[in-house]
Amino acid sequence: MNRFSKHFQLEKLSTGVYAAIVETGSAAMGNAGFVDLGEEVLVFDTFNLPQAAQDLKKAVAQLIGKPIRYVVNNHWHGDHMRGNQLFDKAIIIATETTRSLMEARHPERIRKQREMLPHLVVDIASLASKIETEQDEAALRQMIQQLAFLRDIELALLELQIVLPTMVIGSSLTLFGSKRTAQIIAYEHGHTPSDLVLFLPEDGVVFTGDLLSIHNHPSLGDGGDAVHWIELLSELERLRASVIIPGHGPVGGTEALYEAKQYLNDLLELTAGIRAQKHTDVDIMPAVPLAYKDWQVEGVFQQNIRYLLESRTLQ
Ligand SMILES: [Zn+2]
Repeated sequence: MNRFSKHFQLEKLSTGVYAAIVETGSAAMGNAGFVDLGEEVLVFDTFNLPQAAQDLKKAVAQLIGKPIRYVVNNHWHGDHMRGNQLFDKAIIIATETTRSLMEARHPERIRKQREMLPHLVVDIASLASKIETEQDEAALRQMIQQLAFLRDIELALLELQIVLPTMVIGSSLTLFGSKRTAQIIAYEHGHTPSDLVLFLPEDGVVFTGDLLSIHNHPSLGDGGDAVHWIELLSELERLRASVIIPGHGPVGGTEALYEAKQYLNDLLELTAGIRAQKHTDVDIMPAVPLAYKDWQVEGVFQQNIRYLLESRTLQ
């Protein structure tokens, strides 16, 4: 744990530019970051938990000590915006599509999750009692991590309010700070119908959110477009950033963009192969290719294949 949070590690990328990389297994889930523009601070994404967002706010206060004027939400998924309530004095920026998706989907999602709270409480109690008697050290470690995860979710559900973006942007927005320029650029039909990235041209740094995952299976299944996503990754290459902060996984460089394109191409090839064999049965599931064996969240690979096989477009 660093001195700010059990949920993330801070990585300094440049003077006044920090990535907050989530701890594996943490309920904060999606990476975030913050940038000193000169007179004020921009925060990119707010995690899945208000508790983690609170820690991020504390880190900004201690490391930069200037007001947080802007918050950017990469896309509509909860692990990038459920900490927005901690930044209600800031201008919260997203695209119109993203804001509409948040407004349409989150209240129902949270209502359902809150309905499940009594079950969660039972699960927590039973896991806590299993921990008391578990002898195997590896199993114990995993159970303790799982318990912390569930407790964080329980607390988050009790505190959570959905705070929607207060400013929507079109294709891009450039902020000229006294210290650096920040470009917020919209990309359509990649991981979701609409994703925003944060590009810092003077630093050669780009925060991609879920338009890129590193050593984690990128997820297509929530309205993603594999063919178009490959083109967007080529557009990201043209930014010529040397440091890339993904939505999931560690900080990387341009090679991660090639790997992500390769992954999506492989998915398309595998599904085309299944289709060519005239298998309509979606239970026929190829194994995870060797190149991605070590990537996190393996279940997403199967979801991606299923999504592509079921999608009506010729992906
Ligand atoms: Zn996402």
